[in-house]
Amino acid sequence: MHVLVLNSGSSSIKYRSFDDQGTEIASGLVERIGETDGRATHRVLGPDGEWSSTVEEGAIDDHAAGFAGIVQALERGGYAQELGAIGHRVVHGGAEFVEPTPIDEAVLERIRAQVPLAPLHNPANLTGIEVASRLRPDLPQVAVFDTAFHGSLPPAAHRYAVPGSWHDQHGVRRYGFHGTSHAFVARQAAAHLGRPLEDLAMITLHLGNGASLTAIDGGRSVETSMGLSPLEGLVMGTRSGDLDPAVVFHLLREAGLTPDEVERTLNRESGLLGLCGDNDLRVVERRAGDGDGSAQLALDVYVHRIRKYLGAYAAVLGRLDAIVFTAGVGENAAGIRRRVCAGLGLLGIRLDDARNEGARASEGPGGVVALHHDDAEVAVLAVATDEELEIAEQTRSALRRV
Ligand code: ADP
Repeated sequence: MHVLVLNSGSSSIKYRSFDDQGTEIASGLVERIGETDGRATHRVLGPDGEWSSTVEEGAIDDHAAGFAGIVQALERGGYAQELGAIGHRVVHGGAEFVEPTPIDEAVLERIRAQVPLAPLHNPANLTGIEVASRLRPDLPQVAVFDTAFHGSLPPAAHRYAVPGSWHDQHGVRRYGFHGTSHAFVARQAAAHLGRPLEDLAMITLHLGNGASLTAIDGGRSVETSMGLSPLEGLVMGTRSGDLDPAVVFHLLREAGLTPDEVERTLNRESGLLGLCGDNDLRVVERRAGDGDGSAQLALDVYVHRIRKYLGAYAAVLGRLDAIVFTAGVGENAAGIRRRVCAGLGLLGIRLDDARNEGARASEGPGGVVALHHDDAEVAVLAVATDEELEIAEQTRSALRRV
């Protein structure tokens, strides 16, 4: 059975499709949906083992048209018959969904009920589900939630110190995100170390455009840096991460901004972008290397925040077997890994500079590269994440359970 994985945004659909062995057989991106200059890129693996790509340009009226184009691309590749299920990435599952969940009307209703918690993300994910269910009612559809892996957070980690009624009536608590990525790389790391995940204490660092850390004890998430929304925690490409909530009230009162303006600025115009004007870490590193002061400051704040969390999570876990770097920055940016690990001998972390320099996770066997010193107590790994593959596997396992 092939599984098609959809990640629906407000004006785009990203997809990848996998065969029974988990081998990727198609991928693509439909973008600028609803605009006159839409664009759909499809890559399909042919029977000869060669990939063929097509690019279609022109108006794509809505998500239904985008989805139809994806199904046609699979059909052109000769995969129409094998498609057995669709897995949907859903950002927020609230406290309600802690497992991948086959979708029916009642589940759809419960996902809709989470929209107030994730107004920036869930509506687009829901559109993808509605369209795919309508156009392919013959296929089982499964929702896989970014929050689900963090369903194991203990109350001490997931509660905010606010009135209990805010938690009870408005769902105000830490949920955490990037769960499919943290879960995937934790398993890969355990396999690489040749030890059962159940025995390991590790910290996974997902450093992409969005960024979060998770403390994982015996395979269970026990603390994570994103909160009610993906805004909390680390410095990201365009998100601020942690800040004193009083900053918001100060801006509302003193700068005359509206709540929507503050929300937008903290999500889209802050982080590395806010500090130095660029959000792509490669560009920030290049500028810092050329002596640009604001780019250097941006990197300093970025690295400092990661190190602060790393120390805190080592304390939360009380022991540490591995730290795992993943996503665009974690997998590739040796300079950031070096700065994050520098001087952390007190935690048993010792990077081997020669191993780290130039190392890319995707080039290691199984997408894993070991970066630590031979006699370090804590393994430092770069692991290539694959959120879509994880969603495909979780989709399969959810369907096996029903
Ligand atoms: P997303 O969260 O959008 O999936 P990615 O995981 O692709 O993001 O990460 C994007 C970030 O990774 C960007 O800031 C990019 O600059 C950074 N990145 C990608 N490759 C490298 C590299 N070789 N060196 C440094 N940073 C990199």
